[in-house]
Amino acid sequence: MSLIFNLCSIWESLIRPKLVKSQKKNGSLVLDAPWFQIIFCARMRVFVKTYGCQMNFHDSELMLGILAAQGHTPVEDERDAEVILLNTCAVREKAEQKVYSELGRLRRLKGDRILGICGCVAEKEKHRILERMPFVDVVLGPGHIEEIGEAVDRASQGQKSLLLGFNGTKVLQRGVPRAVRSNPYSAFITIMEGCNNFCTYCIVPYTRGKERSRPPDEIVAEAEELAKRGVKEITLLGQNVNSYGMGLPEPISFSTLLKRVSGIEGIERVRFVTSHPKDCSEELMEAMASSPKIMPYLHLPAQSGSDRVLERMGRRYTAAHYLELIDGFRRAVPHMAFSSDFIVGFPGETQEDFEATLELIKKVGYHGVFAFRYSVREGTEAAKWEDDVPKEVKSERLTELFATQDPITERISESYLNQRVEVLFDRLHSEGVLEGRTPTNKIVRVKGDEEKLGEILPVKIKKTSMYILEGEIETEVSH
Ligand code: SF4
Repeated sequence: MSLIFNLCSIWESLIRPKLVKSQKKNGSLVLDAPWFQIIFCARMRVFVKTYGCQMNFHDSELMLGILAAQGHTPVEDERDAEVILLNTCAVREKAEQKVYSELGRLRRLKGDRILGICGCVAEKEKHRILERMPFVDVVLGPGHIEEIGEAVDRASQGQKSLLLGFNGTKVLQRGVPRAVRSNPYSAFITIMEGCNNFCTYCIVPYTRGKERSRPPDEIVAEAEELAKRGVKEITLLGQNVNSYGMGLPEPISFSTLLKRVSGIEGIERVRFVTSHPKDCSEELMEAMASSPKIMPYLHLPAQSGSDRVLERMGRRYTAAHYLELIDGFRRAVPHMAFSSDFIVGFPGETQEDFEATLELIKKVGYHGVFAFRYSVREGTEAAKWEDDVPKEVKSERLTELFATQDPITERISESYLNQRVEVLFDRLHSEGVLEGRTPTNKIVRVKGDEEKLGEILPVKIKKTSMYILEGEIETEVSH
């Protein structure tokens, strides 16, 4: 057994780092495990639990891809796993508390299992996690997801890993990563990481670091490979996709990238998230209008409808500018659907400020919104200010916000009744029921055969509810 560990240690400490370094340099795939590692090293069953946003969801796919390439096996039940990884979110206090209470539960299950905390809570809490929870084996921030394989191997030899921080480069070099993709027809591609905006309430620039963009050729190569594997829809991911490419040695705009990806044969739909209103350009509106493959759906976080609050949030736009943008997108793509994020009860938010938010919501007519009560994020600018909106007022405002938005969402859903929409069916909802999305991102369910998964089909909508449309596949395709 010690010979096996010695071989593995020599591989891990001397040979593999050199190979990985040279592969990263020439932009190729990170190597699979060599024959002796596959044969001798104990391969393990891995369970990853993901919290938070789509970026985190995709980071989990990437970590599983790296581990699978080393011979480990993803499993769907934590009780079957020898390695449990929590890929965490620190964006709200509640999300962070959930991680600590989950760790309390996992402490009892752990036994010989390897336990890792990855993602934003790892980066935010750093060594405090090991101080509070000494049974944790791996603490790994978002800047180190490519090192998850080494961290798990070290843990299997009884060594702890604390992998945090960022390397300070402006280019995010990943080659064409291997990910365990959970959906064969709709895939995520990370185009950039980090954020330079430092909105006063937000922890992300601290947990995900400064903006780093991936070279466009790598992104296009990844999308082409996915297209060859039958993926029809790509969602480009970044904290602020509109500032994509600015730090690259040869700067390129997000709109140019969008056009390149939508020009790939086999890719039928392109989406992207998240956009910052201050960086939305006419070029982006033109790009969205230029290709029917770029979906007419935009998630454009407003956060507040009050200029006073927006200024204190450090958002660098006004409500009027935001509404002008919405008009501009609607002129470019008439049936564009919008969604947004809002925070209620930000420090200093008055009733008047809150009413300005409700006004904005009514004016835009969003397909849907995500809204949250403000919670203090230690380390941010706003954390220095008094959290002066009482909890119950925050809750009342949140309820009122949804009471304003829900009838709008319902009305928009009803407008689909008897309409014909194109749906990419990418999952089975239940036995004999297919689920997919319209170009405007509405969920549609139909009765249908599994063989139709991966197809874009015309559907006549027969029934609507707030979030779900139900319909029938039309047999005749009209043009
Ligand atoms: S743009 Fe603002 S809210 Fe969005 S990730 Fe950056 S700092 Fe956070």
